[in-house]
Amino acid sequence: MAFQRRQMVDVRHLGLKCATCGVEISELPFQPSGDRPVYCKECARQRRGPSSGGPRGPRRRY
Ligand SMILES: [Zn+2]
Repeated sequence: MAFQRRQMVDVRHLGLKCATCGVEISELPFQPSGDRPVYCKECARQRRGPSSGGPRGPRRRY
């Protein structure tokens, strides 16, 4: 089974900055569309993290 790895896109020439912390972004796991905010690895991970209790939160049945 081949594990599909995301290809990183070099965006250093675009001079993008993280919409949350403002750090300069050198690469993204996707091609930036230009009209959407981009996030650095740390902020992207925090946004996707389950800590904020999204729709996939822990199930609780009473
Ligand atoms: Zn950031």
